[in-house]
Amino acid sequence: MSATIAILLSALAMSVIVGVRYLAASAGFALATRLKHPRLYAGLDPQIRREILWSLASAGIYGVPAGIIAWGWQNRGWTRIYSDVHAWPLWYLPVSVLLYLIAHDTWFYWTHRWMHRPRVFKLAHAVHHASRPPTAWAAMAFHPIEAVTGAVAIPLLVFVIPIHVAALGVVLTVMTIMGVTNHMGWEMFPKFMWGGRVGRWLITASHHQRHHERYGCNYGLYFRFWDRLCGTDDGLGDFVRDHAKAARRDGAGAAGGAADRRGAGRLAAGRDRSSALVQGDAAAVPDRRS
Ligand SMILES: [Zn+2]
Ligand SMILES: [Zn+2]
Repeated sequence: MSATIAILLSALAMSVIVGVRYLAASAGFALATRLKHPRLYAGLDPQIRREILWSLASAGIYGVPAGIIAWGWQNRGWTRIYSDVHAWPLWYLPVSVLLYLIAHDTWFYWTHRWMHRPRVFKLAHAVHHASRPPTAWAAMAFHPIEAVTGAVAIPLLVFVIPIHVAALGVVLTVMTIMGVTNHMGWEMFPKFMWGGRVGRWLITASHHQRHHERYGCNYGLYFRFWDRLCGTDDGLGDFVRDHAKAARRDGAGAAGGAADRRGAGRLAAGRDRSSALVQGDAAAVPDRRS
């Protein structure tokens, strides 16, 4: 098989893997949401369908650099990924995970802030913010430009920072879980992780909720270092208003009558969505600090 075909197949395989990983993680946390807050996503079906389509398109993009690098790692000895666990001291395993998360967070913070510049926002980032409120399915709902900025981060890092292949698996798992849970509309983690001293430095759903609500703040991904350092940290959001809105959407759906219950729900949700989107556009004064 020629190298070109092997690289194409590797990219395709990676796209499928990223897509399946997204579907599994989002479906899992959407199910958890259904159990914990049964009607939280009531009336959001059209939005969720859109989130899934954008996310699957993003998965296709994420797979390309990942597939090329995976091929080069296996066939040409590219990257600093190692598979002999003793190639580096054992203490380096958790350190490498932390280094990757810090580096990825830094990349995310600055590219995310850049995407909140008004012109870039309209082009590259409005797609992600069209989810109001986002759901567990919005984890990869990105415009292709945003997807490219996200897709190259880890493939670039593996050329710079040595990492064991299993530690890289941990990084990708953390990335997937945080991407989904930060958008699912409720706080899953224990309070010390977001409310206490530790929470002052970590990002979970409560922090990212405020970004989706107010736009020009809380740009980070895993840690609050950059937001705090640059004065863009606006504290934690809460889910009271989002949950009250969900109850109203659900109520509007129920009021439609038994014969046309589902249709009324969708219509009311559609009105709610479009007015929210209009408000969202008005509120999208992207980053005043940039
Ligand atoms: Zn988001
Ligand atoms: Zn944003």
